[in-house]
Amino acid sequence: MRPLAPINGISALTKLFSARKKQKIITNLLKAVLFDFDGTLAELNVDFIRMRRAVLDLMAEYCAPSDGIEKLYVLEMIEAARDILSERRPGKEGEFFSRAHRVIGDIETEAAREGSLLPGTGEMLRELRRRDIKTGVVTRNCRAAVLQLFPDIDSRCDAVITREGAPRVKPHPDHLLTALDFLKVEPACAAMVGDHPMDMTAGKDAGAYAIGVLTGHSEAAPLRRAGADLIIERAPDITRYL
Ligand SMILES: [Mg+2]
Repeated sequence: MRPLAPINGISALTKLFSARKKQKIITNLLKAVLFDFDGTLAELNVDFIRMRRAVLDLMAEYCAPSDGIEKLYVLEMIEAARDILSERRPGKEGEFFSRAHRVIGDIETEAAREGSLLPGTGEMLRELRRRDIKTGVVTRNCRAAVLQLFPDIDSRCDAVITREGAPRVKPHPDHLLTALDFLKVEPACAAMVGDHPMDMTAGKDAGAYAIGVLTGHSEAAPLRRAGADLIIERAPDITRYL
């Protein structure tokens, strides 16, 4: 017998129901939600071009070659330059590393002064707590900048892991695992919510769910390609699925 040809309307409906079912399964399992900060909980205009230029200038001052390094993200750029200096100018790498972090930290803190929390963030954190779901913030930003923008973050979230608090930062899953270890929640019962594809890969690599938001610089397609299990418009929308 020939199989029945799929009827467009029905297959679309089935797709919609299975998507809803997936959303429900994911959100019913959650014991912890980890959030990225910039572009997910807060609106921040960090001048990454200025940051990179400042780091490259500093590298030039230490005679560290920039070939192949200038394309890296700024934190990885600093690490690579430190490694080069530890071989070429042993003893100088620590000083370079501290100075580079001071330079980018100042730019981040300056941006945080002009930034703001995205609407609904406070209410969402309260709602998750009311539902016994732990919350964490996992960010590559520095602690000073995060505190500048969100001074009571430590009392509003159960774990705040800035770049200073993780052995390796996102996209390495260790960053998320540090937060989950602190929260005592298994990755399988947690979700990583973020606006960048690296949040999605870090979430999946940690063994958690990955939920993309559209309040940052990425659109839905790259987030999906990076492994997002769900895409929501903005982070506070997550409470609608619980
Ligand atoms: Mg972000």
